[in-house]
Amino acid sequence: MRIFLLQHCALFFFLFSINASGQVLDNFKKHTIYLSSDNLEGRGIGSRGIRRAADYIAKEFDAIGLMPINNDSYFQRFTYPDQEQLESNVVGFIPAKQPTNRSILFSAHYDSFGIQKTEDENDSIYNGARDNAIGVAALIELARMYRSEDAPVQNIVFIATAAEELGQYGADFYAENPIFNLEDVTMCLNIDGFNVSGKRINFFVMPRQGIDYLDDMVLLAQRSGWMYDPPDWVDSMNTNFDTSSFLKRGVPAMTIWIGDRLINGEMAPRLNFGDIHSPLDQVNEDWNWSGVMDHLELYKKTCDYFMHCQGKSKVKNPELFE
Ligand SMILES: [Zn+2]
Repeated sequence: MRIFLLQHCALFFFLFSINASGQVLDNFKKHTIYLSSDNLEGRGIGSRGIRRAADYIAKEFDAIGLMPINNDSYFQRFTYPDQEQLESNVVGFIPAKQPTNRSILFSAHYDSFGIQKTEDENDSIYNGARDNAIGVAALIELARMYRSEDAPVQNIVFIATAAEELGQYGADFYAENPIFNLEDVTMCLNIDGFNVSGKRINFFVMPRQGIDYLDDMVLLAQRSGWMYDPPDWVDSMNTNFDTSSFLKRGVPAMTIWIGDRLINGEMAPRLNFGDIHSPLDQVNEDWNWSGVMDHLELYKKTCDYFMHCQGKSKVKNPELFE
């Protein structure tokens, strides 16, 4: 049934000119480098750095022309336990061409772990470059791509969430206070990490159990030449990402990652990027940005597919994500 639907869904192939795609990649690098710079103090909860990050994202949303959510503001403020200062999701959207409650979401968390005492006294800033300055860069550039096109058939909401690392507080807050009804959310496409290993041919998604739309996603990616190749660890990560805030409420969601296979199908040698959740998660010279556009395009094709699908994707086992 789902496969039948796939054939009847318009797939909108994304043809960006080389110039435009070079511009997107330049912007993408600029966001990643700025958001993971020491100036942002590791974007820890309650820090000046995380507020600078929020301001930067809001400014980008404004420049792109996303609609703010209330009183010209992109900030969706919420309380974080035992903290006086409020935290903020940064949220903007592109309204649908015809008024509708249906929405498709992109989410990426922008918090990291701030400044913490470590054994290496030279560096105590958790810059969170791959986790997840780079995901926010993708979020911003996907917003720009959609704004450069005709108005979409559904509202597209872009959510930079806060306080993910300490328990998905921002995503939970959005899910409890959505801009468009949660029942009418077609899909939440979460971005957490991004491909900086160069050109690759395989991908995987999380989750791969408890949902009825994995086959559709895999098929549409395969039609663009991607090989589906999920590692086992994916199944143990169901509750560790912002997707869980949506999935446990029955809202379809996924995160899309790129794997380790080179164009010729062989496994790539492991690159040393430095560990995530440590001060070593920084932009470094081993990063290879040549696969970034392909990864962005895969997210975009997935969004286009689900946005144009008549059928409704379902979370069969929301309890897996609690
Ligand atoms: Zn993350």
